This record gives sequence, structure tokens and C-alpha cells, in this order.
Amino acid sequence: MKMSKMFVQTMRENPADAEVVSHKLLARAGYIRKLTSGVYNYLPLMWRVLRKVENIVREEMDRAGAQELLMPFVQPKELWEQSGRWEVYGKELMRLKDRHNREMCLGPTHEEIITSIARDGLKSYKQLPVNLYQIQSKFRDEVRPRFGLLRGREFIMKDAYSFDTSEEGLDREYQNMAETYKKIFDRCGLPTKMVQSDSGAIGGSVSHEFMVITDTDAGENDVFYCEDCDYSANSNHAVSKLPPKQTDGGYPEKKIIDTPNTFSIEELSEFLNIPASVILKDLVYIIDKKPVMALIRADKEVEETKLMNAIGGNDIRIATAPEIEEIMINHGFNAAKGFIGVEGMDDIPVIADESVREMKNFVVGINQQDKHLVGANLSDVRIDKFADIRLVEAGEFCPQCGKPLKVTRGIEVGNIFKLGTKYSKPMNAVYLDQNGKTQPYIMGCYGIGISRTAAAAVEAHHDEFGIKLPISIAPYHVVIVPVNIKDDLQMKVGEEIYSKLMSANVEAVFDDRDERAGVKFKDADLIGFPFRITVGKTINEGLVEYKVRETGEQTTVTPDKAVEDIICRVNNALSNKE
Ligand code: ATP
Ligand code: MG
Repeated sequence: MKMSKMFVQTMRENPADAEVVSHKLLARAGYIRKLTSGVYNYLPLMWRVLRKVENIVREEMDRAGAQELLMPFVQPKELWEQSGRWEVYGKELMRLKDRHNREMCLGPTHEEIITSIARDGLKSYKQLPVNLYQIQSKFRDEVRPRFGLLRGREFIMKDAYSFDTSEEGLDREYQNMAETYKKIFDRCGLPTKMVQSDSGAIGGSVSHEFMVITDTDAGENDVFYCEDCDYSANSNHAVSKLPPKQTDGGYPEKKIIDTPNTFSIEELSEFLNIPASVILKDLVYIIDKKPVMALIRADKEVEETKLMNAIGGNDIRIATAPEIEEIMINHGFNAAKGFIGVEGMDDIPVIADESVREMKNFVVGINQQDKHLVGANLSDVRIDKFADIRLVEAGEFCPQCGKPLKVTRGIEVGNIFKLGTKYSKPMNAVYLDQNGKTQPYIMGCYGIGISRTAAAAVEAHHDEFGIKLPISIAPYHVVIVPVNIKDDLQMKVGEEIYSKLMSANVEAVFDDRDERAGVKFKDADLIGFPFRITVGKTINEGLVEYKVRETGEQTTVTPDKAVEDIICRVNNALSNKE
């Protein structure tokens, strides 16, 4: 490829809305261009990267025994009604109507479609197990599309779905996919951590996420992990043992006392001179449009996904102050939200965190302004259900081995789920077993964000000058820069190097632009060619300058030496397929 013909416009400035480095660099280096919120054009450089990621995914999925197909992007409402998700999938589901007023949606994921395909095609146990996958655009109308390709509304995903006749079969395929994912991300130059996670809108019982660990804002997930054993989990699923803490308020008797102006836990604990761990905190959430009260030890926080799962809901948010006031008034109380309690709120479900069980003689709100009940015990508080709804904190103890947990941030690039019969049962997707009896398929599903993986790779591989993608997924391998395009010898040697590399299947770009060398070098670094060969004045002594982007290492060598080294390194990197 001649640089003068290449469709790439590099920019000096970052896009105004770019918050993370992959978004900034991919835009500045001319890989992507935003079309509208959360929707991007993948320009030629990006498309080369995406295709390379896709091909790695394809090779490993095929090797693992899966088969590729392609399902439609637009899906009919009827299938979503069969699975029961039309009602419960939130606003991320982009719904639309065709000219006949038939309702459809843009595929955010494809469980319904694949289950209908299996239902029509996999009728006998003899045809199972099967794992089918596709690589395709998805659309999710995300509340907050951000971070460029990391959280788009339209994005590319590989989604695979397995069909088995037994739980053991599913376990085997789950393990097979976990190993395959590790190979895929390793080949993309991305070390990942496999962590336990919540199953979310996809559903099912067991799931793991593949996280790229980062210390930047791009990591939207908190990952708790133990250095002494293999425990690691997304915060939405993590559990811990609590360090010992005072949980007995020590009040000799139960009574209502004045606690003027104690609107917050801090104010209350200061006023009473007690630790927050002997105060029972009462929070109101709106789950699927209905209020729910959550009780937790006041030194701890509620984890919303856990709370939502405890109720079996699909959508959760904390109630606003006006909503809480309204609830108070509707129940005949007139107090600020800091004084709320479960008393008299008989129609509102109350979920208490497991840690509350330990509390004794504690302090709790009773819907009376400027008053609290002290010396309360569990029998004084209506609790409908105990569940683990607590957000884990670093320093609490590992549930497996008891050592202190650490926290870090992660970008979720892949996710595997054991679905069981969550889709096959309601959709009546069955096969005939050995005894001629119909049985629902035991399913698993396995996703990889192709575009997110590419962006995460930029998060992991860059420096202040630009992108440093590994050879396996860089758009090209090498750029050859003649310093002065009017110098015949420089151009001739440059062209020779170019054709030698090309005939060895090295993807080379010849920077034949009539630009200053400094400009070409800047672009080379920004775009991130893993290797650069500069043909300048030293060519009169038969030497070129050879630079390795990854290490910054720069040497003056003969053209043949540089070519040989690049061919060797590229072949090494690409043969790393096991
Ligand atoms: P998240 O929690 O980040 O919103 P998710 O858990 O809802 O993602 P899955 O349904 O597990 O996503 O989708 C499989 C994979 O698709 C994810 O692991 C991720 O790599 C990718 N993905 C999901 N949502 C997006 C998005 N908005 N933009 C880019 N990639 C995405
Ligand atoms: Mg996920």
C-alpha cells in the first residue's frame, strides 16, 4: 500500500467527547469516525484490525468445534414474546415497526433467533451437542454510550450458542469455551482475568467474564480478587467475609430518643457517638417501577444488581428524595428521608442484607422527624427476606481462603453463560432423547465484543506518541519511509525493501508522500506500525534506520538485515497459534 493513496487522515486534536485513550487515539490516528452517538464508521485501518480480531476468533472457534452462521440483524417481536423478554428487556432494546405495523427489534443479542433455528433443525439427540456462532453487528440503545468503541450503541460481537443433552455436556462445552477465550485474547495480545459474574439480562445460573485489567477510567467494572487463591469476581457478584466489627450497640433498653438534624449516617453516628456498624440503614429503591426497602449495616453499601436479583427484577434505581417524601406522606408520615424506617410501610417489600443478622441493640429510623429508635433488635423490624445484597470492599476477606481481597478495574471483553433451559423451555425448543421422549436443550451462550476487544487492545498498548497494537492485530506490520522522495536512490531502495517484504507476506506500507520526515515519523508512531524502516542519507553507505515500535529500539543496519528481522518477527508472531 502506498501511503499517498491510503485512506487515512490523522489529526492533531482529540475529539471533544473523547474521555479515554483508545477513543482519542483511534480517532486521531484515523481509524474511526463518529457518525452519531455511540455509532462509528470503521475506516480502513480499523476495519483491518477488526477483521484480524474476527479471524483469530473464527480460527479458535472453528478449532474448538463450533460452526459459523449468520442471523438477521432485525428480529420479529413474536420470538421475543415466546422467550418472555419482549416485556422485560429494558430501553436498550431498540424497537421499531415495519410498514405493516409489525413490531420488530434490532438484535442486541440472538438467543431467541438461535433457539428457533435449533428448534427447527435439531430434532434428535443424535444431532447434539452443537455449538453455533456468528460475528455480527449488534444494537443496544445504551443509556450512556461512551468511550468510543468500548461502549457503543452499534458494535460488533461474536456470539456463540451451545445445545446439549445434559448438564455435564454443558459443563464440558463451557470449559471448552473458557479455554478457547483465553487463547483468543492471548493471540490478540490481551492478558485477561476470568472472573465470576452476574448473569444479567441474558439470564442463566453461572457466568464468567473475561476482563482486561486496567487502572484507567476505561475499566467500568470493579473486580475483586484474591492473591492467595484463584477467587475473582465482578463487584456485582463478589462475596466476602467481613472483618470483626462492633455490631452490638450496647443500649441497655429499647427507646425512642431525640436525634435532631441527623439527616445522614455520619451526623447520626457523630451525634450518638457510636460507630456506623450499629446503625441499621434503610434505603429505598425502585425496582421495576415499584418501591423496595433495603436494610443494611450503615457502614456498608448496597450492591444494586444483587438487590435486584434478590427481588427477581429487571430494572433498578435508587429512589429520589421527592419519591421518598411521597412514600412517607402516602403512609401517613411526615419526616425527612434520613429518618425513614420500615414501620407502617406494610405494602413495601423489605430485604435485609445477611450482615444485619449479626446486629444487636442497634439504632434505626422510625419515620419520625428528629428521632430514632435505639436498642432495637431484629424482632423490632419487619424483614421479608434476608439476602446478600452487600457491595464488597477491598480488605474484606476472601470467601474461599480468608485472605484480604484486593480490587482493580476491568474492561469486560468476553462473557460466557450457562443458560440451562432458560430459553429452550419457554420457547418449547426440544429434541427426542434415546427413549423417544421430548427434552428441552441445555444451552450455553458465549459472547466476545470484537470492537470492544480491539479498543481494549489500544488501551493496553499505546504510549504518548500513539497506538502500539501487537503484530497479530495491527492494521499493517511495517512502514518504509524514504526521507526525501526526490532522491532516486532512497526511493529505489525503499521500493525494493517494500517488495521483498510484500512477497514474504509482510503487510507493508510505503510512505511515498511528499512530506517532511518529521511528519511521516509522527504519523507512523500515531498509527502504530510495529516496525519502521527509514531510508535516508546513510543509504549512500548501504545502511537504513530500523525501528521497533514496541521497544523504541532503533538501529542502523543493512536493508537486508532489517527485512530479515521483520520477516522473522512477523512470522513468529503469526505462527503463535499453537
Ligand atoms: P456491559 O456489562 O459492558 O454492558 P454486557 O455484559 O451487557 O456488557 P454481553 O451481553 O455480555 O454484554 O455481551 C457480550 C460482549 O459484547 C461483552 O462481553 C462485550 O465485550 C461486548 N459488548 C457489550 N455491550 C457492548 C457495547 N455497548 N459496546 C461494545 N461492546 C459491547
Ligand atoms: Mg456481559
